[in-house]
Amino acid sequence: MPAKIIDGKAAAARIKDGLRNSVAALANQGVVPGLAVIIVGDDPASRVYVNLKKKACAELGLYSEEHALPATASQAELISLVQRLNVDPRVHGILVQLPLPDGLDEQAVIQTIDPDKDVDGLHPVNMGRLVIGSPGPVPCTPAGVMALIEEAGAAVKSAECVVVGRSNIVGKPMALLLLAAHGTVTVCHSRTRDLGTVCRRADILVVAVGIPGLVTGRMIKPGATVIDVGTSRLPDGKLAGDVEFPSAVEVAGAIAPVPGGVGPMTIAMLMRNTVQAAEKQMKRGLLP
Ligand code: NAP
Repeated sequence: MPAKIIDGKAAAARIKDGLRNSVAALANQGVVPGLAVIIVGDDPASRVYVNLKKKACAELGLYSEEHALPATASQAELISLVQRLNVDPRVHGILVQLPLPDGLDEQAVIQTIDPDKDVDGLHPVNMGRLVIGSPGPVPCTPAGVMALIEEAGAAVKSAECVVVGRSNIVGKPMALLLLAAHGTVTVCHSRTRDLGTVCRRADILVVAVGIPGLVTGRMIKPGATVIDVGTSRLPDGKLAGDVEFPSAVEVAGAIAPVPGGVGPMTIAMLMRNTVQAAEKQMKRGLLP
């Protein structure tokens, strides 16, 4: 029987709807959650993501502002912009769209963001919180994957979980979230021996690499829950995941497709992190 298709668009819409009450409660206290998005250069994929983020803010009644810098912007300019946003009371969340153009130091920029405004959850303080199990803002994509796993009805506790990819933005925080939920977690990467054998052990398989079709049906345990994070643009303009969908859907128990799986959830989690950042900053009395 073909796998259940996990509908990330519908799940994301429910999460965003659920935020409307929190946004209204904040509005009653005179607070509109605000997100500042910084984009440097003219990478077309980054432009698409930034537009989607601004659109989601508008749908939920969040304040958003975009800071578009040319690819020639200096490290000092970027750092000084982040420092200004750190103390701007209208801005509760700061997101620097990655990747930055060559020559700019991503880590230095991320480390300049006030950890409480770090709605991407990438600041070392927030990564550290994730490691010790008392999370601040959690990186949006892995947080969205956890929600999709729940949506699929898969229990993480005691499950064999395999994460393919070990980036700071997806793979590593993903592994930490699964571990915190009591999964038995294996992380694979470009030097992993016999990827297929490791993947086939997984009750829950999360693939975040960026190589279309890397994981085929033969590498999937029958009945497994498969979450495909990979998003690559093919020459014909279509989006492709890392999982070969036609063969995988025949083996998996549930599968999140590309597009329509993780992508919408990433945006929904960004909205959630921004609203929660506003709530936290208000409670701390940092706001009027
Ligand atoms: P990344 O920083 O390039 O990391 C890719 C990871 O894949 C690395 O850890 C790399 O291993 C590993 N890898 C490369 N080749 C491999 C192979 N043959 N077998 C096993 N592992 C291999 O990418 P990322 O930022 O994590 O993104 C991964 C994918 O997810 C991309 O397609 C990206 O577009 C997508 N993405 C989607 C969303 C969304 O919202 N939908 C959000 C973020 C990312 P090494 O560490 O050994 O190099």
